[in-house]
Amino acid sequence: MELTAARAVVTGGASGLGAATARHLAAEGAQVTLFDRDSERGMALAAEIGGTFAAVDVTDEASVASGVAQAVAAMGGIDVLVNCAGIATGERVVGREGPHRLESFARTVAINLTGSFNVLRLVAAEMAKNPGPERGVIVNTASIAAFDGQKGQAAYAASKGGIAGMTLPLARDLATQGIRVCAIAPGTFATPMLKGLPIEVQESLAAEVTFPKRLGEPEEYARLAGFIVSCGYLNGEVIRLDGALRMR
Ligand code: NAD
Repeated sequence: MELTAARAVVTGGASGLGAATARHLAAEGAQVTLFDRDSERGMALAAEIGGTFAAVDVTDEASVASGVAQAVAAMGGIDVLVNCAGIATGERVVGREGPHRLESFARTVAINLTGSFNVLRLVAAEMAKNPGPERGVIVNTASIAAFDGQKGQAAYAASKGGIAGMTLPLARDLATQGIRVCAIAPGTFATPMLKGLPIEVQESLAAEVTFPKRLGEPEEYARLAGFIVSCGYLNGEVIRLDGALRMR
């Protein structure tokens, strides 16, 4: 898949890893449609990169269907999906306040896992209309918490473990349509989520990384997403992007 000719949807495209991916793909010549529930930042970035913004809540069937229709109308079809919409949550199974709230567990899974699936199933149906043999590429965002989740990360790790676990069956299902599927499992990245933490906390997170001892740059995620799109033999794989960080 040539990035220069790609028509890409990036969810969570208003911020962090999604915004960096949207900028990178646009700089490589791709057409980009951003899906996000943050309209203000999404519209501003779409204007900056000459793309399209669709106000989408990934958990909502009708909202995603409308976003997909807007993307197809704007770009004439969809070849690439990078799913970055997500939330970070933390809560102990039994904490000072009592047992983990079921609502917060379900919400984390609804956005991070079910939301990613909701977008990819509708986008894949559009990709299937493209001429083959390769009709599309899907990149989902897991986390190293899928493998070494920490205390308080039961909900988040479950949602990301789901992303990792469905990667191979998605690739197998969508092989029929000529669509490749991979996931990126980022370590700790310098996005608004982490940059909001006190500098000492950011420094201690960076110190945990094996090498290089720093947070990942969103552009590094974006370049890997772009590489997955352009490397036609990469399929069904979850790639850690973490400076060899292993969380304890
Ligand atoms: P971020 O908060 O900067 O961006 C997330 C974006 O998703 C926001 O623009 C937000 O509005 C959007 N979003 C959230 N819920 C949504 C919904 N229901 N519908 C539509 N849009 C929604 O976060 P980020 O750091 O860029 O994270 C991107 C993804 O990468 C997330 O899935 C996150 O779990 C994952 N991740 C991040 C890190 C990290 O260190 N930053 C590490 C591992 C995994």
